[in-house]
Amino acid sequence: MTELGPSPLAAGDPQLSVNEARAAIAGALQAITGSETLPLMQALGRVLAEDVLSPIDVPAHDNSAMDGYAFDGSALRGDAVIALAVVGTVYAGAPHSGPVGAGECLRIMTGAVMPVGLDTVVPLELCRAEGNRIHIEPGVIRPGENRRRQGEDLARGRPALYAGRRLRPADLGLVASLGIARLTVVRRLRVALFSTGDELRTLGQALDPGCVYDSNRYALMAALQRLGMEIIDLGLVRDDPAALQATLEAAVAQADVVLTSGGVSAGDADHTRTLLARLGEVAFWKVAMRPGRPFAFGPLRAGGRSGWLFALPGNPVAALVTFYAFVRDGLLQLAGATSEPLPVLQARCSHAIRKRPGRTELQRGHLSLAADGRWQVQITGSQGAGILRSMSEANALVVLRHEQGSVAAGEMVDVWLFDGLV
Ligand code: AMP
Ligand code: MG
Repeated sequence: MTELGPSPLAAGDPQLSVNEARAAIAGALQAITGSETLPLMQALGRVLAEDVLSPIDVPAHDNSAMDGYAFDGSALRGDAVIALAVVGTVYAGAPHSGPVGAGECLRIMTGAVMPVGLDTVVPLELCRAEGNRIHIEPGVIRPGENRRRQGEDLARGRPALYAGRRLRPADLGLVASLGIARLTVVRRLRVALFSTGDELRTLGQALDPGCVYDSNRYALMAALQRLGMEIIDLGLVRDDPAALQATLEAAVAQADVVLTSGGVSAGDADHTRTLLARLGEVAFWKVAMRPGRPFAFGPLRAGGRSGWLFALPGNPVAALVTFYAFVRDGLLQLAGATSEPLPVLQARCSHAIRKRPGRTELQRGHLSLAADGRWQVQITGSQGAGILRSMSEANALVVLRHEQGSVAAGEMVDVWLFDGLV
C-alpha cells in the first residue's frame, strides 16, 4: 500500500455549520454548458436550456368561458329584464359565421369562439329560456363577462417557461398546448460514484467474515436516478491510496462530479481527503452536523480535466443525509436548474429529543397527520448513523437547527421532506 504521509489538513481545520457548508458549495459551483434537443416526452425531469417562447396567443381567439348564450353586452339595461331571440348554436372548434342582429343571441358552448360583435356570455343557469327566447334579469351579468380574451393567458412571443426549469408533467402539457413538439434541455450531468472500504462486498459476492454489503452505492445511484443524472458506476475501491487515486483520476476523466462514500474521516484507512488535497483542493471537510460529519467537498483535477468531489461519510444513514443536505442541491445547480430546495414544514414532535446547541442534527422521522388535522412527526427507531432501516422507515428528517437546544415532547420542529411524502 502506498504511503500518503501526514494529512495536509490538521485537526484545527475550521468546522462549518450546515448553512455555511451549503453556502460554500453554492458559491463554488457553476452550471455546466451543453444541451440537446429532445422530443417532448423525453424531456420530463430534464432542465430547460433556454426559455420557451409561445409561438401563438393563448387562447388563440376570444372564446366562451361557460355554456350559455352569447350576446352583445351593450344590450343590457340597468334595471330592466332583456329578452333575446336564440338564432343559432356555436360549438367549440366550429366558429360561427354570419351576423347576429340586435335583440339576438347564440347558444354557445364552453371554449367556442366568440362570434363577431358578441362580447358577453350569460351562463345557462343565470337566464330563463322560453321557446327560442331567453330572458336575463337585471344585475345577473355585466358586459364582457364570461369571455376569455385572445392572448390573455399568454401572448405570442412571451416566455411560457424559463431556462432552468426542471420539467414537470404540467410543463409538458403547457408546451404541448403551444404546439411545440421538441425542447432544448441541458445535457445530463455526469456523476461518477464509487464506494470505498476493504470491508465492502458487492451484490453477488460472498459476505466474508467482518464484511458488509455495499449499500451506499445503490441508495446513491437511486437518488441520482431520481434527479435525472447520468450515472457512471465505478464500483468498489479498496482503502488503498494508489487504487483510490487511480479511480479518482479515471472518474474526473469522464464525469462532472465524483461522489464517493467512506474513507473521509481521520482514521488510518481514510485517504479520500488527502487525495482531494493532492489532486485538487479541500474546500472544507468538517461540518457541524450529526449524522454527517465528516463530509468533504472541493475541486478535483486530473488529466487536464476538472470536476467536483463530494466525499460522503461511509455510514449509510450519514451518506444519504449528507446527500440530501449538500449534494442534491449542488447537483441541480451544476445541472443548470433554478434553485428548488426540498420543502421544510413545521410539525409537532411526538418525543422529547436531547440536543446541544452548536451543530445541526437530523433525525429520521415519520410525518403523518394527527387527529386534529395537523402534522406530527415521530422518530423512526434507533438513530445510529449506520442503521439504514431508520432511513428507510422515514419519510422526513427532523431538523434540529444549529443553535437549537433540546426539544420537549409536543414542541414544533422543522421537518424536511427529503423524498416526498409517500
Ligand atoms: P468510514 O466512513 O469509511 O469510516 O465507514 C464508516 C462505517 O460505514 C463503517 O462501519 C463502514 O463499514 C460503513 N460503510 C462504509 N461504506 C459503506 C457502504 N458503501 N455501504 C455500507 N456500509 C458502509
Ligand atoms: Mg472505511
